[in-house]
Amino acid sequence: MARYTIETYGCTSNRGESRAIERRLRDAGHHPVPDAESADVAILNTCTVVEKTERNMLRRAEELEAETADLIVTGCMALAQETAFEDADVDAQILHWDEVPEAVTNGECPTTTPDTEPVLDGVVGILPIARGCMSDCSYCITKFATGRIDSPSVEANVERAHDLVDAGASEIRITGQDTGVYGMDQGERWLPELLRGICAIEGDFRVRLGMANPWGVHAVREELAEVYADCEKLYNFLHIPVQSGADTVLEAMGRQHTVEEFREVVATFDDALEDWTLSTDFIVGFPTETDADFQASMDLLQDVEPEKINVTRFSKRPGTDAAGMKGLGGTLKKERSSAMTDLKMDVVGAAYEDIVGTTRRVLAVESGRRDSVQAFDDAYHQIVVQNASEYGIDPGDFVDVTVTTHNTVYAMGEPVE
Ligand code: SF4
Repeated sequence: MARYTIETYGCTSNRGESRAIERRLRDAGHHPVPDAESADVAILNTCTVVEKTERNMLRRAEELEAETADLIVTGCMALAQETAFEDADVDAQILHWDEVPEAVTNGECPTTTPDTEPVLDGVVGILPIARGCMSDCSYCITKFATGRIDSPSVEANVERAHDLVDAGASEIRITGQDTGVYGMDQGERWLPELLRGICAIEGDFRVRLGMANPWGVHAVREELAEVYADCEKLYNFLHIPVQSGADTVLEAMGRQHTVEEFREVVATFDDALEDWTLSTDFIVGFPTETDADFQASMDLLQDVEPEKINVTRFSKRPGTDAAGMKGLGGTLKKERSSAMTDLKMDVVGAAYEDIVGTTRRVLAVESGRRDSVQAFDDAYHQIVVQNASEYGIDPGDFVDVTVTTHNTVYAMGEPVE
């Protein structure tokens, strides 16, 4: 859980982006604070309408950098003049709006709790299935708030999913700190059964499984891959944060998986599914990470080619074991983070390039900027459709689209007439 502050400049659209970021940060359990000095992360949502504004943005970024542990710069100037901040020697992560919430999370699991009721947000039904995890990651502060997993029964969660579908959900998002260990507190591994139960509910909807750590998934990988192959309602999407490509770093992080086990999960899904999205996270600059360890992470990323990658620069959270470790310098962390972000852009860009020219059925889930809708295909590729009102597309609609282009983190599509 991080303390964050967000500053927004420019038009109404930019303010809408900040509201969306804040909503996702609050859903993940992060806390807003009034100023950068008391924040773990400051977010600057920029505008670049005139030269004077640009100068103001750079000056404000420099001030925030001096006041806070971590600075994230997003918004129009960050995207249009990405190098301006680096040229001005501002130490910040430059990110697309959509990437900000994951970067704030610092590699920890979300803190969404199951004892809050499921939420229907537009056509998206958010279903927290269990609170807590079975891990003790050395960098994590979330575990102090959530504790050991406490799993409600499969029947109870299917019932809650049923209620969301009845209330109009077109997409059920299954969340939790670690969905892969659901049931382990009862000596069981209930995730495959839960997914089958939810997908058996009548109706035209999709199901997205939220983050699951590799060690829990590894134990049920064959069974889980079978569920994915059988259940059409389940997006072919798996988010398993590996965090490092070096076993020594994973051990120091207190992760309970090896790099090889992560690879085995990926190989199992590659064998079972023709088209699927692997999403993973890397923490760079962990205190024990050597040059060779970092290179191992880069090699792993290049090798498994995830379509969605969150890169987080390590930062200390109070009270955690990792906070007591001697840290790496900020410059080194910045260099590694920039190098991995560059590689990520190449890998993710290539994945989206591969689907340009194809036609896919997508579900529109959310209205976006300037009369667009955000939609997802069966493999959870994000495809933005513009002029939605002209085509009569609303959130909740299924549409056939041809992918026309991409901008690295998402594709653009046009409805098939
Ligand atoms: S799995 Fe690790 S990072 Fe996630 S909540 Fe548990 S201890 Fe924290």
